[in-house]
Amino acid sequence: MDMNLSAEDIEFRDEVRAFLNENLTDSLRTGLARTPGVFVEPDISLAWHKILYEKGWITHGWPVEDGGMGWTPMQAYIYEKEVALAGAPKPAPISLQLIGPVLCRYGTPAQKQRFIPRIRSGEDFWCQGYSEPGSGSDLASLSMRATQDGDKYVLNGSKIWTTHAQHANWIFCLVRTDTAAKKQAGITFLLVPLDQPGVKVTPIVSMSGDHEVNQVFFDNAETSVNNRVGEEGQGWEIAKFLLQNERGGSCFAPKLLVNISNLKKYAASYTTADGNSLANDPDFEARLAKLKLRAHALEFTELRIQADIANGRPAGPQTSLTKLISSNLAQDVQTLHNDLFAYEGLQLPSERPLYHDDAPTPVGSEAGQTSLAAYLNGRAATIYGGSDQVQKNIVAKRILQL
Ligand SMILES: Cc1cc2nc3c(=O)[nH]c(=O)nc-3n(C[C@H](O)[C@H](O)[C@H](O)COP(=O)(O)OP(=O)(O)OC[C@H]3O[C@@H](n4cnc5c(N)ncnc54)[C@H](O)[C@@H]3O)c2cc1C
Repeated sequence: MDMNLSAEDIEFRDEVRAFLNENLTDSLRTGLARTPGVFVEPDISLAWHKILYEKGWITHGWPVEDGGMGWTPMQAYIYEKEVALAGAPKPAPISLQLIGPVLCRYGTPAQKQRFIPRIRSGEDFWCQGYSEPGSGSDLASLSMRATQDGDKYVLNGSKIWTTHAQHANWIFCLVRTDTAAKKQAGITFLLVPLDQPGVKVTPIVSMSGDHEVNQVFFDNAETSVNNRVGEEGQGWEIAKFLLQNERGGSCFAPKLLVNISNLKKYAASYTTADGNSLANDPDFEARLAKLKLRAHALEFTELRIQADIANGRPAGPQTSLTKLISSNLAQDVQTLHNDLFAYEGLQLPSERPLYHDDAPTPVGSEAGQTSLAAYLNGRAATIYGGSDQVQKNIVAKRILQL
């Protein structure tokens, strides 16, 4: 793996940098910086989405025939790094990183024609209906039923922890179409419109006071048979393809490195009891250095995966490794952040969002204002997309061959 940027890569990096300088407004940057949740709200993410769409970069990682840019894996990594450095929000990851690539790979020509342009433009906003009460890690045990009735499926059951269902107009669901088959073989992948009488979205407010997740109830809800992706019973295969993108489709290290260097910046403005800058406190410096080393090690692993992809080897179970490492590291960065802001970081404003002009005034600094809520929301990182224990099982079986 060659770690040096080629002349073309440097030219590409400069192009991305120039675009970000010109188009990323202060309000978008502030929107991300003052978001303590896992995802940014659509008023911020969709504004940036539209700018990237007009530039043609919104689905840069997709196959070229479906709207991708044909960038090399290294260019894609450079892009993510520049985006993290600039502080740009992530546009609609569930639409762009999860269902989009599934439709590119498994969608019929009619499904592609109908959904892909609307995902790219941001007209449709998707949420993910995998987990159910009682079926999370053991996803194949899911029980939401879909029964075919002429040219439609009738759906009954519920999905839980559905991120941003309150903003979405479509949900993709894993459903049980066959109760007699082996549990994985009875699962089908359906696209379901949310705006219909048989669907009810109920909020779940997290311990930070943020509303990001929901329970979605289906009571004789309907979707057309044309909205089935793949064949009946092929849902498990498609689900696994999607999960690989969810776990490792993005580059985590660049954003973590930015968060770590921000910590150093914040620390520089604090003085300890002996009058020195906190940034020079040996204990703080040691903790920061350890985090930075772990983030650099993760960056090398991610670059190795990119090199594999460039050489035609799929990312595969290595994505469980990067998900495991990055989510634990992110939590440790948030812990240091919280320690750094001490009592100031203990504020937990109940109003949301925190990026509007009428947001509550912070007790201390703005970074302190979001610290505790981000810390609390960050605990979910080792649960969603497959918990730590589930990732470790995959690493043990498929990488270590135990
Ligand atoms: C903030 C947030 C957003 C989410 N967004 C979505 C979404 O948009 N769509 C969606 O479908 N889902 C979503 N989820 C759900 C998420 O995928 C599940 O919470 C996750 O898969 C774990 O499932 P569970 O909550 O049922 O826990 P369980 O599966 O009940 O696990 C409970 C505990 O047991 C451990 N455990 C389970 N099985 C094993 C095993 N075999 N070996 C060792 N330990 C095990 C787990 O690691 C965990 O610690 C979200 C979750 C959160 C927290």
